[in-house]
Amino acid sequence: MSLSGGMDSTSVLIRLINEGYKIDCISFNYGQKHMIEIEKAIENIVYLSGKGFQVKHKIIDLTSAMSIFHSSLTNEEIIVPEGHYEETQMKSTVVPNRNAIFSSIIYGYALSIVAKEDVNVKIALGVHSGDHAIYPDCRPEFYQSLESSFRLGNWDSERVDFYLPYVNGDKVTILNDAMKSCQDLGVDFDTIFSNTITSYNPDNRGRSSGKSGSDIERILAFHKVGRRDPIEYIEPWEKVLQNAITTENNFKDEEYRNRLTKIQYDVTRNSATERPFTGEYWDEKREGEYLCICCGRKLFTSEMKYDSGCGWPSFHTEHEDANIEQIEDRSHGMYRVEVKCSYCDAHLGHIFNDGPMNKGGKRYCINSASIDFMEE
Ligand SMILES: [Zn+2]
Repeated sequence: MSLSGGMDSTSVLIRLINEGYKIDCISFNYGQKHMIEIEKAIENIVYLSGKGFQVKHKIIDLTSAMSIFHSSLTNEEIIVPEGHYEETQMKSTVVPNRNAIFSSIIYGYALSIVAKEDVNVKIALGVHSGDHAIYPDCRPEFYQSLESSFRLGNWDSERVDFYLPYVNGDKVTILNDAMKSCQDLGVDFDTIFSNTITSYNPDNRGRSSGKSGSDIERILAFHKVGRRDPIEYIEPWEKVLQNAITTENNFKDEEYRNRLTKIQYDVTRNSATERPFTGEYWDEKREGEYLCICCGRKLFTSEMKYDSGCGWPSFHTEHEDANIEQIEDRSHGMYRVEVKCSYCDAHLGHIFNDGPMNKGGKRYCINSASIDFMEE
């Protein structure tokens, strides 16, 4: 397997250990500015070895070949861009043909193991679909095509396969898988992930600004699985997270404007309130689930809904995975507590203490415009 020292390949590593493979890790030194990732990879190998999981690790030096390439990841004269990971300026972080080069070397090594040890070999890589917009060499078609080419040009190639467990997933898929592997193996998730780095422009202490595209994707993934990223950032986690959410929302604003109706946009993005008894769901009684209109997060179910008579959909409880955020709101000369979707910052409504006592006494007063109803 290719072990970069980032979170994707590290998750592959613990998955492979959990699946019982005998593992050879290869890390590439290609002159990357974030070379510290290789030190992180070594730290994890040492940690896992202390837990009784032995893996081989080789560091391959490609600096002389790849230092002639043009990329912001390797070239001191080009600055690594900040911003959203799907923005076009992130293309400067592409290292030309990188995955093909790495795969070629690993493929040659895999065939060597076949020859020496008379075993079948899988080449495991942590590529995932979240990378596809900017990194076309992470697409499944690319690996299918590589595999066909390698097979055409090599003896014994039927004994080597690519294994891409995350190719159709994203960083959230990866973290969920890693949590499961860590639990199965009895290793500490936070220790493993504190020994990873995703940033392309860490400072001299290895800390990330949290502002490069890859950082933002990582930060949002940790937030979405309900965890705090255990690595150290230059700023406190709350600030780093807020910046990532804001960056994501600015990037998505155009999509929200196109997809949402005017009232849905005004309510969720600008904290407007729909007029009572006018929304789609205040009198909704069918069974089903209520999702955030912006990000699709499950917020409530029909069992949590009740008739409060106020003219807005009312719920006494939130879904256990909803993680709704509560914020003091002193606007309009009133003291109220605003509720927001913590995943996408959508304004949902307010929460009051006049709900049904036998259900905990809360009333989530939610705009119909903030939610989408899925009938069961
Ligand atoms: Zn949301």
